[in-house]
Amino acid sequence: MSRKIVIAGNWKMNKTRAEAAELIKPIVAAIGNKNDISVVVATPFTALETVGNLIGNSSVQLSAQNMCDKASGAFTGETSAAMLRDLHVSHVILGHSERRAIYGETDALVNKKVLAALENNLKPLLCTGETLAEREAGKTLDVNKTQLLAGLEGVSAAQAENVIVAYEPVWAIGTGKTATPEMAQEVHAFIRKVLADKYGEATAQKIRIVYGGSMKPDNVDALLAQPDIDGGLIGGASLVAKDFLALVESGLKAQAKR
Ligand code: PEP
Repeated sequence: MSRKIVIAGNWKMNKTRAEAAELIKPIVAAIGNKNDISVVVATPFTALETVGNLIGNSSVQLSAQNMCDKASGAFTGETSAAMLRDLHVSHVILGHSERRAIYGETDALVNKKVLAALENNLKPLLCTGETLAEREAGKTLDVNKTQLLAGLEGVSAAQAENVIVAYEPVWAIGTGKTATPEMAQEVHAFIRKVLADKYGEATAQKIRIVYGGSMKPDNVDALLAQPDIDGGLIGGASLVAKDFLALVESGLKAQAKR
């Protein structure tokens, strides 16, 4: 069985609606109805509707970058899963290290969001990753295991198949430093083992685990050649259509070899 590679762009807090339209148009034109791999774009909330309309019936899938764990009510500034579904959003990034470090999101909150997303048929891109200090202290595997198991608390095996795990070493995000393919593979294989211990081998083999951290056209092929790296969550390089499409091409090539 081969897992479908995911190439997901995280646009972060970039692009007005007009700029978002310019970025998505060539991507939609190039992807069309190809669906050998999953191509996902996570736009700012304000661009979801514009980008969703331009995506139309193509195979490109739409993601949010965050979500409230609550269904509705007095939560000023928040956005619910149902509101995202209303905009034809299919995925949501949860537990990104920027949300954890800058906005104080805890594992417990990330877990509530994961559960709320799954209950509303949104696929979470659940991020885990160690800081440089944690890596240097030899805590890489422990930190990723803790974040992963906490994020998946109460998630059934059937639901877990709809989760995409994103291993994003914090020291590699936006820094130009990439984990070597071997370093990333070690953590991906470990994450798959943690998933197998929790859900059984068959389910663990179905769950996509993507890498994030300065993934670019010149390092993507070596990363995707690793057996447990099932794609990428891409920040900087997803803001340039030509670069993002080069990553998609690499994803298609890697998929064909699986
Ligand atoms: C990210 O923020 O998810 C990310 C991986 O960013 P970059 O590709 O810029 O390192």
